[in-house]
Amino acid sequence: MKDASLVCKSNPDQRTVIALTDTVTVGGDTLLIVGGPCAVESAEQMDLVARHLAHTPVQALRGGVFKPRTSPYAFQGLGEVGLHILDDIRHRFQMPVISEVMAESQIEIMATHVDVLQVGSRNMQNFDLLKALGSVNKPVLLKRGLAATLEEFVMAAEYILSHGNPNVILCERGIRSFDTYTRNVLDLGAVVALKQITHLPVMVDPSHAAGKRELVPDLARAAIAAGADGLMVECHPVPDQSVSDARQALNLEEMAALAHSLGPMARALGRQLKDDLAIALTHA
Ligand code: PEP
Ligand code: MN
Repeated sequence: MKDASLVCKSNPDQRTVIALTDTVTVGGDTLLIVGGPCAVESAEQMDLVARHLAHTPVQALRGGVFKPRTSPYAFQGLGEVGLHILDDIRHRFQMPVISEVMAESQIEIMATHVDVLQVGSRNMQNFDLLKALGSVNKPVLLKRGLAATLEEFVMAAEYILSHGNPNVILCERGIRSFDTYTRNVLDLGAVVALKQITHLPVMVDPSHAAGKRELVPDLARAAIAAGADGLMVECHPVPDQSVSDARQALNLEEMAALAHSLGPMARALGRQLKDDLAIALTHA
């Protein structure tokens, strides 16, 4: 990784804290928990998700509007209509939203409607997209490629930083292997290594790694134990009715329970959740 001078730590204690909004950050002591559906399906769906999660330790919402689908005949996302749904939700609930950008041509409109632009695994080495995201004034959540080495992952982040945007969040989401029981293999060794190599925040998406909802909560907790700065987890008001990734979606009660279960772990690791801050403030 000798070329990754901007992404690699210059001293072992260096860490970058990235602000999603004035009040929500990632990379500091507070863990960033993100929940939401694979895809934005309707205003009602996002309203239910936000209403349910706003009073839990979940601090940000996710939902794809431009969806990278294996089949060209599968639902491709609501596009701009979905962006307006996300924009409305983030203002009404005061929660930042994260959504995937698939092409350079989508950057401008996305940057006005969402708080974090996600680069999906299938685009991790879309170098023109990475370069273009260098000039955006919003954080980028860069997901590890389907079979990317850590060097390729780190160098992809270096593209964005070297083109002017220092706010990159790395996200481990599982890599391809031979076993089909899980969708991908969650590489927690990568989380430990990335935390040693880079000063950037490292998040984990256990949903796309597991591919099965019953594996998600324990993998999420394992990721936090391994040092992740946050989680991005798929959830849906009626998981089996999700238009995409139904099998891995938690319901909203399960999502809230997972978020709350992280509190004691966070404290044991010298970290905290959103609610711990609120509790500390009311007792101050
Ligand atoms: C997603 O977050 O819905 C997604 C498509 O993820 P990935 O790029 O990791 O497959
Ligand atoms: Mn998904």
